[in-house]
Amino acid sequence: MGHQEPHIDLSPRVSDTIRKTTCYMCACRCGIDVHLKQGRVAYIEGNRDHPVNRGVLCAKGAAGIMQVNAPSRLRAPLRRVGPRGSGQFEEISWDEALQTAVDWMAPLRANAPEKLAFFTGRDQSQSLTSWWAQQFGTPNYAAHGGFCSVNMAAAGIATMGGAFWEFGQPDWERTKLLLLFGVAEDHDSNPIKIGLGKLKARGARVIGINPVRSGYNAVADDWFAITPGTDGLLILSLVHCLLKAGRIDLDYLARYTNAPLLVNEDPDSPENGLFLRDAQGKPLVLDRASHLPVAFDAPAVKPDLAHGYRRAGITHRPVFRILADRYLAPEHAPEAVAERCGIPASRIRALAAELARVAFDEAIEIDQPWTDFRGTRHAKMVGRPVAMHAMRGISAHSNGFQTARALHLLQILLGTVETPGGFRFKPPYPKPMEAHPRPHATATPGQPLKGPHLGFPLGPEDLALDAQGNPQRIDKAFSWENPLSAHGLMHMVIANAHAGDPYRIDTLFLYMANMAWNSSMGTARVIDMLTDTDPDTGEYVIPRIIYSDAYSSEMVAYADLILPDTTYLERHDCISLLDRPISEAEAAADAIRWPVVDPDRDVRGFQSVLIDLGARLGLPGFVTEDGSPVYADYADYITNHQRRPGIGPLMGFRGDGTETGRGAPNADQLARYIETGSHFQAHIPPAAQFFKPWNSAYQDWAVGLGLYDSPQPYLFNLWLEPLRRFQLAAEGHGPHQPPDHLRARIKATMDPLPIWYEPFEQSAIDQDAYPLHALTQRPMAMYHSWGSQNAWLRQIHGENPLYLPTNLWDEHRFAEGDWARVTSPHGAITVPVAHMAALNPNTIWTWNAIGKRAGAWALDPKAPEATRGFLLNHLIHELLPPKGDGHRWANSDPVTGQAAWFDLRVRIEKVPAPDRTQPAFAPLASPVGTGPATLAWKIGK
Ligand code: SF4
Repeated sequence: MGHQEPHIDLSPRVSDTIRKTTCYMCACRCGIDVHLKQGRVAYIEGNRDHPVNRGVLCAKGAAGIMQVNAPSRLRAPLRRVGPRGSGQFEEISWDEALQTAVDWMAPLRANAPEKLAFFTGRDQSQSLTSWWAQQFGTPNYAAHGGFCSVNMAAAGIATMGGAFWEFGQPDWERTKLLLLFGVAEDHDSNPIKIGLGKLKARGARVIGINPVRSGYNAVADDWFAITPGTDGLLILSLVHCLLKAGRIDLDYLARYTNAPLLVNEDPDSPENGLFLRDAQGKPLVLDRASHLPVAFDAPAVKPDLAHGYRRAGITHRPVFRILADRYLAPEHAPEAVAERCGIPASRIRALAAELARVAFDEAIEIDQPWTDFRGTRHAKMVGRPVAMHAMRGISAHSNGFQTARALHLLQILLGTVETPGGFRFKPPYPKPMEAHPRPHATATPGQPLKGPHLGFPLGPEDLALDAQGNPQRIDKAFSWENPLSAHGLMHMVIANAHAGDPYRIDTLFLYMANMAWNSSMGTARVIDMLTDTDPDTGEYVIPRIIYSDAYSSEMVAYADLILPDTTYLERHDCISLLDRPISEAEAAADAIRWPVVDPDRDVRGFQSVLIDLGARLGLPGFVTEDGSPVYADYADYITNHQRRPGIGPLMGFRGDGTETGRGAPNADQLARYIETGSHFQAHIPPAAQFFKPWNSAYQDWAVGLGLYDSPQPYLFNLWLEPLRRFQLAAEGHGPHQPPDHLRARIKATMDPLPIWYEPFEQSAIDQDAYPLHALTQRPMAMYHSWGSQNAWLRQIHGENPLYLPTNLWDEHRFAEGDWARVTSPHGAITVPVAHMAALNPNTIWTWNAIGKRAGAWALDPKAPEATRGFLLNHLIHELLPPKGDGHRWANSDPVTGQAAWFDLRVRIEKVPAPDRTQPAFAPLASPVGTGPATLAWKIGK
């Protein structure tokens, strides 16, 4: 007998069922195949047909199994029975929980809707949550963008009608040079990794500009260890070099930007700094052929970038001339900024030359005719293959809005936006600032707000102020303190509510926002505010707190009523074009989540709970005329809600199932999504793929899909006229006047051209006493605080040392295992240190949100996250140090109100190792207790 090879099953079946849904282990929203065995999650892999990840799955995504089975999951609605912070709760029924919430909220709606403050954290259902808050009638609603990256988002939309990440992406197929500014590793995670892989395969260059060389910067071809807060200075110096060398795209500037628009230059005119307009209000350019001013969008106009125009004795000059004068000044020369940025002048000049060489000497062409909004036909699409990407690193500073504006100016001068090889918008963007709503904030008892809360004021008349000029919102968004706070200021809500400034609230309603720990500036102070009582009444200063979360986070202990959420595999969700979709530059896309497993606890998806509350409160849109609920749950809402006739949360399979974008609700829509992989794409035709803001074919396609109702071509705003309107008010013009103490700051910071100024905290402190910058970064393997409770991911990052550059390591004679005390003007922490050579010499940093409070998240109170992990938040304050002028200024960007996390300045000293990181907080009693010492998960054999 011959030898018989043993049979080996090389691909054993890991599951009996596969269900396709959308990952939520971070915000990228990759497609996943969830393998089930015996009805339980056995394995998760990437969906190869999904546009976001094409099958790629990261460590977080794979570890979703341990998230769905985490011991920290809340199990039932809870009512607090001990003092706030005691962790003493009793389980109650859903009926009781919802009735309690209604009993608290209904009188507020009837009498003073603003006394409900509803703020959400990392959720992805803002089109529902904002609509609910609008129908309730409270002005106090926002999501977490104000403490994340609103500077990036608002500057992008205001300058060019879209920003990075969810709004746009590099042209990964054609880019030859990519600049990454301050990018976190967990945002846009798989898409950037896939994109970088494509660039590397083609030999394209990647340059990282970041104080810390980790993650994407570690695989970059070149790295600029910039000093935190000076990105704008570097960028404007690059602009200086390009202007001086004449290496800018004049044709692009003349056609597609407001560079040729004529600006009033009479310093005494109430219109100084505003555009010359015709009788219909259209801005004017000088036509090179006729030498006459004509509307910017007149057919066949040839806008003049060089010459001014005098009318009624007033000189008007094109934006481009003003801009060139500004940035050609010696203060922007590389030699003038090098020391401050920590980058030699020769490297700045070399970077500018490299940008110009790739943009202009390696220009690419696509043989694709197209027609612009003036009716001009172009035989080809000409591209400048330089792309840029930025996130929180440039955003989380008090100069972040103007820095992000500067970055867009650089992109636009090179002609790299919406051209082949450059930066491309993703539908529903581009969408200019003017197409966004104005903010609405006037509360009327028993009535909805008259429009959406969030948007873009175009001038002082659009601010959210009452008749006396006081802020209408609890976070003071859209006030003179931060006029363009397009995402609200979540980081100020608790401090303002506690101070009763501008007024007291009754109920704080939070969703997925860990405000008693890693989401607040000055954690201990915020805990004190949440637990503080009124000496006269003995009641809590913030009387009621309702919180919804899936897990026993630190915030749970400080709430009065807990509405337990499901995990992401147990729920319906909608990743919608009305909200934060998953589109690509070539296609609009949306997606769903659906319950691929049933919850094994008494929990409900928060969005369904919100819809139920809306019906119980009788909110318009949530009840029919006879008072019965319009929607059974979130799935029903996703299917049947119409924001405008024919436009709903999902674009696919509308009407009879064949209609896309516009169409009547279709009862089979969710079933069709599930059948086809839980996502849907609508591809942009070839002639509409680039130059989207000005491309007639794109505009018509977008109208057809329902992104807008009529074509809306526009010009990029190099000169941001709405900012100038605020400056004019600060100079004394117009009926809407700022308070005197804010005039100088508005004039200084709301410049219509991008500027750089020193971050506020730096100028408010003794810099010799606090010589170092302190930052956090987000690791690829964690997403906010969720990941650091995950049994698998904790094995990657179970603690977070403070990383020090070589010069500090040597200067303080640190050795492995040492600890340091870190002191800021607001507090001190004692933490373990580690050496990292690839770091700006004046910067120390750590991973974000690894540190946990003992007792939270069902972790052992002695877990390394609690004993060796830590937060930098203890060193940060939501207010700047006193300056002696009687005001405590917010630690925020003065334009958008973005929390300035990265302005933090500190000093360090070596100290003996304590038994655990300091400050140490008393362990929390958790309603779910502590998980088992060993966690294993195996389904079947
Ligand atoms: S990148 Fe984010 S969404 Fe994609 S698989 Fe990883 S965790 Fe999931």
